[in-house]
Amino acid sequence: MPTISKSSPKRPWQPERKAQERRITQSDGFYHTREWRAARRVAMQLNMEKYGVDVAMCEACMELGVWTVANTVDHTERRTAMNRALWLEQSNLKCMCSSCHNSKSGSEAHNKTKE
Ligand SMILES: [Zn+2]
Repeated sequence: MPTISKSSPKRPWQPERKAQERRITQSDGFYHTREWRAARRVAMQLNMEKYGVDVAMCEACMELGVWTVANTVDHTERRTAMNRALWLEQSNLKCMCSSCHNSKSGSEAHNKTKE
């Protein structure tokens, strides 16, 4: 049986990818930034550790005692209402399922006051 050497991590046949400099547009571009993706991933991981599961759980559903897989990470406060420096703060992020996320961003009628 031939042994395939996996010692070389380089793939000379593939052109090296340059990090794409993406122009960040005012609002939606934020969700394409590397920083956001990293923060999002961390939020998911923290969530998994918190609940001791392999997939992130919707925290809004959790409050109701329902275990629902989260597929999005939401800002607890409207992003536009926050200082930009807080956009990546884990304490401002919440894993949510799509239905909770949709209903939240649909109504955006949460009047919680936070410091
Ligand atoms: Zn939910």
